[in-house]
Amino acid sequence: MKKSKLFDTHTHLHDEWFDEDRDQIILDAHNSGVELMVDIGTNMQSSYDAVALAEKYDFIYAAVGFHPHDAIDYNEETESELMKLWNHPKNLAIGEIGLDYYYDHSPRDVQQKVFIRQMEIARQLGKKVIIHSREATEDTLKILRMFPDVTGVVHCYSGSLETAKILIKMGYHLSFTGVVTYKNAAKSLEVVDWMPIDMLMAETDSPYLTPVPFRGKRNDSGKVNLVVEKLAEIKGLTYEEMAKITFDNALKFFGLDKETTDEK
Ligand SMILES: [Zn+2]
Repeated sequence: MKKSKLFDTHTHLHDEWFDEDRDQIILDAHNSGVELMVDIGTNMQSSYDAVALAEKYDFIYAAVGFHPHDAIDYNEETESELMKLWNHPKNLAIGEIGLDYYYDHSPRDVQQKVFIRQMEIARQLGKKVIIHSREATEDTLKILRMFPDVTGVVHCYSGSLETAKILIKMGYHLSFTGVVTYKNAAKSLEVVDWMPIDMLMAETDSPYLTPVPFRGKRNDSGKVNLVVEKLAEIKGLTYEEMAKITFDNALKFFGLDKETTDEK
């Protein structure tokens, strides 16, 4: 039987946790069927690292930006450096960007300013955004609403069904991680069960959020199959069907479907 093609839409393979065995982990994931991966930058260094990985592997793409944790370090200089990366042919989106009121690593007013600034740039460049939002639903929605012509994905979606309905109506995709395999995932399951299947994507967010049965160990892109398997179960589909749906959704979301048809 042919292996299902998988797409890890959000991973941090540049993370130092992979310093000892990064290439092996990447090749193992790819050989196991993870056809495409998007490595996500969260600050200046990891944005450089994400693009470097995308340059090294033709099946890895990058998305770069300043995470709310690192918003305090965003300035004119980093913005002009980022601009080069945002215009890099393998950069697919701006992110991850957003608000995190759980950790509050950067002051909230700074988080908001940096988030808004990167949304403005997304609008200017016509790029999609990858949103991180934790304990900040109201302010995240307020800022997203300021940019009705920008869309993207809310990654590792963990909000309510009510908020999911608003986001889907605004044209945002929702992506899910290994969290859907956890015992306390009832809210996420309800959202996946409800949501239009064409707006659904899968990710690992590795090295974090390792799916069951590997919870507690390091996560990597090769485990995205466990997320897909759970999504299939919730939607009442086969694994193969869900693999194809999430793969095609991601391809279309990132505009990579056009690339392949253009080549023909
Ligand atoms: Zn992430």
